[in-house]
Amino acid sequence: MDIFALSREFGVHAEEGRGGDFPEFLARMRGKKVMLLTDENTLPLALPLKAALEKVCFVKDCHLLEPEPVADEATVGIAKKSGDGCDYLLAAGAGTLNDVAKYAGSLLHRPSGIFATAPSMDGFTSGVTPLIEHGFKITRPAQVAQDVLMDFSVLSAAPRRMIGAGVGDILAKYCCLADWRISAHLTGEKYDARSAALMGEAVRAMDESLPALKAGGEEGIRRLMDALLISGYAMVIAGNSRPASGAEHHMSHFLEMDFLARGARIPLHGVKVGLGTLVSLYLYHTIGRRPAFAGCEAVYAEAEGLPPVARIAETLSALGCPTRFSELGIPRETFRAMLKDAYRIRDRFTILTLYCTYGFMTDEVIAELEEEFY
Ligand SMILES: [Zn+2]
Repeated sequence: MDIFALSREFGVHAEEGRGGDFPEFLARMRGKKVMLLTDENTLPLALPLKAALEKVCFVKDCHLLEPEPVADEATVGIAKKSGDGCDYLLAAGAGTLNDVAKYAGSLLHRPSGIFATAPSMDGFTSGVTPLIEHGFKITRPAQVAQDVLMDFSVLSAAPRRMIGAGVGDILAKYCCLADWRISAHLTGEKYDARSAALMGEAVRAMDESLPALKAGGEEGIRRLMDALLISGYAMVIAGNSRPASGAEHHMSHFLEMDFLARGARIPLHGVKVGLGTLVSLYLYHTIGRRPAFAGCEAVYAEAEGLPPVARIAETLSALGCPTRFSELGIPRETFRAMLKDAYRIRDRFTILTLYCTYGFMTDEVIAELEEEFY
């Protein structure tokens, strides 16, 4: 898989460099006015790139002082004000700053890009931005990043839990693809084989490189970044987020709204998605214990193709991520409500929709899940 050639097909310039040396990107920025969006954690990592940019163009700093900024109206407002009059908006960061730069860029009609500092989520190449507005999480259309700059010495040195979050967001795709196929089978939803094959191949390649990733080598991080970028392209082909978002993402969104309502700090996206993946896998692997239903053979077949819950839990745990919802301070009541109601978040059929609408999410099943994962 040549991620650079593939990215070009989707209009994204992916470039690898070290110590701020990104020749193609820097040549394009020559003589321009570039806003550089950073926070306390990412500024030190971006200094070599900043120095390289200052040799060829005017750099306007937009430095966020909060240690962990969130993608809300206030942060977007700061970036938009600072980026006004600039030719290009570059974020140095991962989830939040990427979201803020591409949304501010689309509001200002200016291209944007990302210097990725952690392989923690799959939004680098997605065309939408999740934002918090008036305390609610909403998804706004935004532009796709024009450039994704990767220094693998920086990405490999990211905090272990951020790497674990990225791995969780990718391992989730096993369930997303299974959810998509069972929906196609049971509800007749349109299924795009090319999108699913591209995503599936990237997940397997990353999964196979997990021993290398856990050992701390760059090779595993490369396969992880491949999969994180490809996730965006698979969504472009499908025309929606189906290949990258299933029941585990609905569970994550449900929890996020609860964190927001409680005014609590929201844990990393991939960390919550990893937990949701464990629940989805369990629901698939135990479907044979539930009453038979029309079309159940196809669901049994999907379950057989999925990895065991224990292997995914061990992987998440080895990368510093929780394997129980209580570890994130989620109230027991919220966990139970999530199992019963998270499927309502999107009108999209998943293994959770199947359990909840076919009468399989009984008190006994909820108790089993609580025992396993709470
Ligand atoms: Zn995700």
